[in-house]
Amino acid sequence: MTMQLDSSGKLRHLITLKDIDKPMLEMLLDRADSFVTGRGALPRNGSAFAGRTVANLFFEPSTRTRSSFELAAKRLGLHVLNLDVRTSSRTKGETILDTIYTLEAMSCDIFVLRDSEPGMPGFIADNVDPWVSVLNAGEADRNHPTQGLLDVLTMRQHKRDFSQLSVSIIGDIRHSRVAHSTSHALNTLGVGQLRLIAPESLMPAADEFAGAERHTDIATGIADADVVMTLRIQKERMNAAAIPDSESYYRQYGLNKERLALAKPDAIVMHPGPMNRGTEISSEVADGPQSVIREQVANGVATRMAVMMTVLETLHGK
Ligand code: ASP
Repeated sequence: MTMQLDSSGKLRHLITLKDIDKPMLEMLLDRADSFVTGRGALPRNGSAFAGRTVANLFFEPSTRTRSSFELAAKRLGLHVLNLDVRTSSRTKGETILDTIYTLEAMSCDIFVLRDSEPGMPGFIADNVDPWVSVLNAGEADRNHPTQGLLDVLTMRQHKRDFSQLSVSIIGDIRHSRVAHSTSHALNTLGVGQLRLIAPESLMPAADEFAGAERHTDIATGIADADVVMTLRIQKERMNAAAIPDSESYYRQYGLNKERLALAKPDAIVMHPGPMNRGTEISSEVADGPQSVIREQVANGVATRMAVMMTVLETLHGK
């Protein structure tokens, strides 16, 4: 297993939230919070590591996460290299490690990696130079640690005490790296109750999400929840026959106003994006007063700044 911490217990790589303990999780959340500014305000900046370089390697599509990492890096004064993977040598047969070694030779300090192959970010982390860090920006259906962090940061900003919280996650939990990472963080923070709502075909394996309640009925799953998170159906991770048809899915599991009314009146609504309006969520709810979806996006940049600052401190000292 990849060692995410260095020999003195500092964060060196971020591959999964599973092994990140509560003090470190809270340190990252506090730090991310310190980078959050109001809408329209000048974003926070930093310059302690100005001139260091981040290479974004996204071997799967991304809009939010990639631009979020890029903006976070730039706000810390870092250089950013966005490798165009459609023209990269990996498609010409060069192994991913050769690509990494080439970029290491050009003095890249951080690799931000998204890949459809499980285990790839950890494998790269195990093979980079000691002065280089790897950040997982989405690994198959397994982990998306910065999304997990920004999700719990958003919950904490609204709700504070995790032990009192009831969180309902609706949708394609089986294939969602977001649900996996967010639940790792929620467990570490001692969430009161985690409920998974999905048809049987989209429920995770029995040995995953220990301690979570499972509901196939959305009404009982949502009742009195403090946080309601909906997820996109990960069509790219299923064969065509298994993909539920959008209209009947919306009828059974779509988050509309009537269903949201079953949660607590001050419940917040979350979605990692990209959203399919009319499939997992109605526009009325997505754009409604309980939605914190855009706050999640804003928190994403602050979270990635916090993570990059932290690993750069580990690599190069304060
Ligand atoms: N953007 C998230 C991810 O990369 C969620 C999604 O794609 O549905 O996993």
